[in-house]
Amino acid sequence: MERFDVAVVGAGLVGAALAYDLGRRGVRTIVLEKEAEPAAGASRSNSGVLHTGFDSKPGELETEMIRAQATRWRGVFDELEIPYREPGALLTAVDDEEASRLPGLAGNAARNGVEVELLGGDEAGRLEPRSAARAGLLVLGESITDPYEVVRRMLASSPEIETRLRWPVSSVEPDGEAAVLSGPSGRVSARFVANCAGLFADEVAGDGSFRIVPRRGEFAVFGKGTASLVRHILLPVPNPQTKGVLVFPTLYGHLCAGPSAVDQEDKEDWRARDEGLAFVRERGARLLPALRDLRQTGSWAGLRPAGLPENYVLGWSERVPAMYHAAAIRSTGLSSCLGLSGHVVSVLAGRGLNTGSHASGRAGARGRAARGRAAQDMSHDPPRPWWERLNELRGVGAA
Ligand SMILES: Cc1cc2nc3c(=O)[nH]c(=O)nc-3n(C[C@H](O)[C@H](O)[C@H](O)COP(=O)(O)OP(=O)(O)OC[C@H]3O[C@@H](n4cnc5c(N)ncnc54)[C@H](O)[C@@H]3O)c2cc1C
Repeated sequence: MERFDVAVVGAGLVGAALAYDLGRRGVRTIVLEKEAEPAAGASRSNSGVLHTGFDSKPGELETEMIRAQATRWRGVFDELEIPYREPGALLTAVDDEEASRLPGLAGNAARNGVEVELLGGDEAGRLEPRSAARAGLLVLGESITDPYEVVRRMLASSPEIETRLRWPVSSVEPDGEAAVLSGPSGRVSARFVANCAGLFADEVAGDGSFRIVPRRGEFAVFGKGTASLVRHILLPVPNPQTKGVLVFPTLYGHLCAGPSAVDQEDKEDWRARDEGLAFVRERGARLLPALRDLRQTGSWAGLRPAGLPENYVLGWSERVPAMYHAAAIRSTGLSSCLGLSGHVVSVLAGRGLNTGSHASGRAGARGRAARGRAAQDMSHDPPRPWWERLNELRGVGAA
């Protein structure tokens, strides 16, 4: 049986970021992915917005992970040539009640170390003339990317990473200090296993210690070129339950509105519903009234891996002592995956994983070879909207 230092279950953002951080340290890593392509789950179906954590609860694990990523993601994206843009976000208060909540949010942002600027109606209007802003909070650092590109470039970043597709893991069992992973495609052994299986992480855990419930989010897409209607990401004033529906430009020139938030049972149902799309268009138009006159040209639905009883399940399995869960990363995994990967690497190192031969992606012939290989692979399949890739993979038509 083949033996690896670390087996990562799931080639989503969390698994790919972990593989990236292990690969650059010379750790022999296998990523096992059940689908025919990487980023097949939540990671291909989000908004592509890198949040700063300005509105997250200070001191919470999720906030810590987002802030840990904030210190390093630009360096990693530049190194791996992952496309991104940093337009910043305007938190758009559309009435006096929302405006009255902005100073509290500015205080929260300051506690999390995020740079923001309170704006009156005139200033907000000058920044975003088409918005309905009566007041605003400018959040610097909020950025846009393509989440599919993030995953595939991280997986291609090092020769130490081997990704096996169509390799569903049916069971993980203890084997002395190590673990054995089995499925219809075979068996492999690893000193450590990282459970990054998104919607199915509860099944990989196999002990009922947590549950994952899909939370659907629909997005409406408007025609190419509409992104120029805004200069920033427009965020609604959030409430404690949800960030709400944003209006955001994409790297591909489309404007999008979404997501909704509806719990569902089925982990395989990726259809966008008409009522969800009508909801996001209506909520989006509160921030940008011009949306009412735009024709929707596409759509998608994402499924967030929401955890019960809680999100951000980070910890060792009791059933398989060599397995660490990095699961239930519901709504912020694009913004926190590099914080999470740093955390998991240090936890595994604490249990004896040798992470000594730290080689930055830029240093060394092997690193250069890996980047060359990545660039070559991607020239056959250049970047294009991730939601189109999602709808193709899931066999759902755009509304
Ligand atoms: C609608 C929506 C909007 C979002 N907006 C944002 C946002 O603006 N900013 C942000 O930061 N985050 C956002 N997120 C959250 C972000 O997308 C998730 O936190 C992140 O994608 C979770 O990544 P993951 O790797 O844990 O899970 P996934 O991406 O689901 O990856 C898990 C992988 O494991 C594979 N797998 C599952 N079971 C097995 C098995 N048994 N064997 C092998 N492979 C398996 C799956 O096929 C999948 O590829 C949003 C998510 C959604 C759905």
